[in-house]
Amino acid sequence: MLIVMKSGAAAAEIDAVVNVIQKIGLRPHPMPGATRTAIGITGNHGPIDGRRFENLAGVAEVIRVTKPYKLITLDLRPEKTVVRLGNATIGGSELAIIAGPCAIESRDQAFAVAEAVQKSGARFFRGGVWKPRTSPYAFQGLGETGWEIITEIRQAFQLKIVTEALEEPHVGLIEQYGDVIQIGARNMQNFSLLRRAGRSQLPVLLKRGMAATLEEWLLAAEYIMAEGNYNVILCERGVRTFTQHTRNTLDLASVPAIRQISHLPVIVDPSHGTGSAYMVTPLARASVAVGADGLMVEVHNHPELALSDGVQALTPSEYARLVGEVRAIREVTTPLVNQSRLETKVA
Ligand code: PEP
Ligand code: MN
Repeated sequence: MLIVMKSGAAAAEIDAVVNVIQKIGLRPHPMPGATRTAIGITGNHGPIDGRRFENLAGVAEVIRVTKPYKLITLDLRPEKTVVRLGNATIGGSELAIIAGPCAIESRDQAFAVAEAVQKSGARFFRGGVWKPRTSPYAFQGLGETGWEIITEIRQAFQLKIVTEALEEPHVGLIEQYGDVIQIGARNMQNFSLLRRAGRSQLPVLLKRGMAATLEEWLLAAEYIMAEGNYNVILCERGVRTFTQHTRNTLDLASVPAIRQISHLPVIVDPSHGTGSAYMVTPLARASVAVGADGLMVEVHNHPELALSDGVQALTPSEYARLVGEVRAIREVTTPLVNQSRLETKVA
């Protein structure tokens, strides 16, 4: 159920609707928009009788939700969500670039990469402190030592830190030392982790599971939003197919497909999406051309010495070139993407 308030509805009228929803034991999700506020309702397992809301002051329309999603949809918020962290945004007019090594390996490595990231004008630094590795014998991340390095980078370079939570207690640590909680492909359906991230005040970057359909991915985002955290960023990172020429098949069609359904920002990770450094820049260009709100790119000062994912890491100079190219593409494509959005609305 979705309650659309009249465009001039007073705050007290919105509060009154919120109160009724709470009194019947459900959870209200008020979403203020450019022209009106809509209130999503979660917590019900069956249909709700919407008539009780129809005569409340300020209510324009009560809509039954027939799709599996309630909170990620354009019905609830027709305008795009812009995730804001200080002066950095994801989903706004600026192309968001999140770059850094796969894992924090040492102070020297992390500082060298952070310098390149800052120089490029990117506002987000990525780097795993705990790594989800296929083999238990592979490098698992520096853990606590990694946090000391990240804390220094955050201070020295004024970059927003994006790092992955593998377990629920990691979320608390990211809340203390980081800026964005990354939930990785392997954890996209770790529901207790999704719920914990949903109770955080920090934005959550939700990667697509390796075998996840669009619906499963969007429902994972619903888990986070249903707990009250509306700052979710979707990240396409490729899915597993029969191809052998790439590590994953980067599904760039998911970007316009999500746009059609959801207000959430979508970024693309061409590093895990291809698995080879030489393919990262071409696919980054394509990601921006298709309308992605940003990119997540792995960079290493010595890819040949990397403890994880060196084959797909760009060197600082390759990365700097990529940034120049994708920014130029963004300039050209932004009006086109906006135009096609208007046309879709009219159609
Ligand atoms: C990562 O970004 O470091 C990572 C492990 O990616 P994914 O979860 O997409 O495999
Ligand atoms: Mn990696």
